[in-house]
Amino acid sequence: MKILVINCGSSSLKYQLIDSESEKVLAKGLCERIGIDGRLTHTPSGKDSVVLNDPLPDHEKAVSLVIEQLTDSENGVIASLDEIGAVGHRIVHGGERFASSCIITDEVIEAISECSDLAPLHNPANLIGINACRRFMPEVPMVAVFDTAFHQTMPDYAYLYGIPYEYYENYKLRKYGFHGTSHSFVSKRCAEIMGKPYKDLNIIVCHLGNGSSITAVKNGESVDTSMGLTPLDGFLMGTRSGSVDPTIISYIAKKEDKTIDEVMDILNKKSGVLGISGVSSDFRDLQKGMEEGNERCKKAIEMFAYRVAGYIGSYVVAMGGADAICFTAGIGENTSIVRELVLDRLKALGVTWDSEANKKRGEEVKLSKDDSKIDVYIIPTNEELAIARETVALVK
Ligand code: ADP
Repeated sequence: MKILVINCGSSSLKYQLIDSESEKVLAKGLCERIGIDGRLTHTPSGKDSVVLNDPLPDHEKAVSLVIEQLTDSENGVIASLDEIGAVGHRIVHGGERFASSCIITDEVIEAISECSDLAPLHNPANLIGINACRRFMPEVPMVAVFDTAFHQTMPDYAYLYGIPYEYYENYKLRKYGFHGTSHSFVSKRCAEIMGKPYKDLNIIVCHLGNGSSITAVKNGESVDTSMGLTPLDGFLMGTRSGSVDPTIISYIAKKEDKTIDEVMDILNKKSGVLGISGVSSDFRDLQKGMEEGNERCKKAIEMFAYRVAGYIGSYVVAMGGADAICFTAGIGENTSIVRELVLDRLKALGVTWDSEANKKRGEEVKLSKDDSKIDVYIIPTNEELAIARETVALVK
């Protein structure tokens, strides 16, 4: 069966068409600048990318252009829409309502819309994507795969914030966690690599990308994760601050004569390693800066690694021990210096690692030595494939 995977943002739409039997990507692409001007980059497997600068006034137009490209006589990979067996949509926030993926119905759409309060930047965009696809493919089954679902197994003492309980009761203010599809995919793959039952292992997954989060997966279930009510929580990221003393928010507002919304914007978009380095949110630029002697780039990288190591330590305790630690996503898979700084701190946990192996990137690698108390791996994530698998499992 061919599965179209859609990841819709407020001004973008990423897609992949995946053959579920071979798990090969038949084509993938990205619509950008939706509602501004518009650009579509379409890449059929084994061929060069095509870039179209057609206007994309809305997501509906974007979906129609994607379909045109997928069925195009030259750049296309299918003869007609009938070949698409199902569509899997990445949905950011499923609140407490969704603990697993589900077939999209009118009721599900309503429930996703009710979660929009918790993810005002993401869920409305995800819904626009669903509605646009439904219009063009009304007969094709669609599945919602939630970033939050995997973390619904967290115990209440881990997900509650230390604020008056009625805020949880009235507004559902609690930790939800994100990147669940990736944490689930990578931890399962880790168990396969180790050749042990998933349910028998305690695994810490470090998803380190522009947005970063770390999850403790105990016996196949998420028991704690670093992101919270929103993806701003946790440790510093590309442009996000991660957790800060909440007093900082009112302090900056007063000192700089800003509204709370303006301060939140700074914490989301101008903080993290960008804010510290003043150079970039991209670790490739930070590493270059550090090699050229830029102290603030070095500091940003050290802060990031220090916090990652701290979460790993606390999750070893949360799970009563760990069997494996996995690095994944852009930085986790590629940036050796970050892994090196983290692993150096993990000596305290009896971790030993191979510096030659740590030079590798973007592939499955075992980093730990045989005498290490905890196995350490690089495991590339593949959220689109995970969404395609979930989708097939539900529509079959
Ligand atoms: P997100 O999906 O959250 O936008 P990614 O997982 O793509 O982010 O991670 C982006 C980060 O990965 C950037 O900081 C980038 O510097 C880092 N990175 C390092 N090396 C590479 C590489 N070879 N390819 C892609 N990203 C890389």
